[in-house]
Amino acid sequence: MAFTRAPGKHRRPSRMQRGTARAAGVAALAGSGVVGSLAVPALAAEPAAAQTGLTPVVTLGDAVADRIDAQAAAQHEAAREAAEAAARKAAEQAARERAAEEAEQARAEQERAAREAERKRLNTFVSPIPGSYVSTGYKSGGAVWSSGSHTGVDFHAAGGTPVQSVGIGTVVEAGWGGAYGNQVVIKMNDGTYTQYGHLSSIAVSVGQQVAAGQQIGLSGATGNVTGAHLHFEARSGADYGSDLDPVAYLRAHGVNL
Ligand SMILES: [Zn+2]
Repeated sequence: MAFTRAPGKHRRPSRMQRGTARAAGVAALAGSGVVGSLAVPALAAEPAAAQTGLTPVVTLGDAVADRIDAQAAAQHEAAREAAEAAARKAAEQAARERAAEEAEQARAEQERAAREAERKRLNTFVSPIPGSYVSTGYKSGGAVWSSGSHTGVDFHAAGGTPVQSVGIGTVVEAGWGGAYGNQVVIKMNDGTYTQYGHLSSIAVSVGQQVAAGQQIGLSGATGNVTGAHLHFEARSGADYGSDLDPVAYLRAHGVNL
């Protein structure tokens, strides 16, 4: 850009002229698209800014500044509240998920405990007469046995002592059993059979489900006996001759004898 000055007047251009010229140059750049949107007229009208070449410092009134500060503060506060609300919502959602998870765990634990209790109930065996003892052992010989040997054991019991099923099962016989007197036979859930003989009375009927420890009658001296006791047998099957060692049978099922 060439300055055109009056010939013979070699004085420097005034400050205002220099500033205006620089502003004009900037304006030219802006026009060429090199510089973005600049407040060229304002720049040109601010001699101080033009002189220093620094970014013009705009001094605003205190009221305007305060208003801007307040707006900024309000925006900041709103953003903070929004962030807090979002965090609260996320925490609530997490708490709900945690509670649902815990409820599911509790339900699973309850089911597991119920299954365990059921398993225990199905596998629990007890003595036919709690606190009693075997007075005549398995396979002991004697003229009194029709088979020539004792196919069960005798539990010591005075007449009228409660007799209970040793485990869970179904009553398959309940009535007179010849030499066994009044007897109850139970098909256990594991497929084995237990027999209770010489009863003075019977408290169950055929087809009835019984649990471990459930009373099925009272001991007595019915049938081929010399005195009151409970004759107890365990069998692997329904047939006579499939007898098991009753003490070993009960012990194998966890009964202390
Ligand atoms: Zn016996």
